[in-house]
Amino acid sequence: METGEQCDYKGCNTEATTKGYVLGHKRGSGDKDSLHLVNACDGHKNSDGFFEDIGCMANIK
Ligand SMILES: [Zn+2]
Repeated sequence: METGEQCDYKGCNTEATTKGYVLGHKRGSGDKDSLHLVNACDGHKNSDGFFEDIGCMANIK
């Protein structure tokens, strides 16, 4: 993982500390939800709907 990646949550400029998945859908793709890989900060990794990718943690300091 590159250093200095930002949290992918809207309006959040905090440095990401982990990666994981959120359930959602892209604009224009209808109502079908799917998992998206996102970066998350310490605060957002505890958000409802965020599933931390434990396998990635070893790559993040
Ligand atoms: Zn965040």
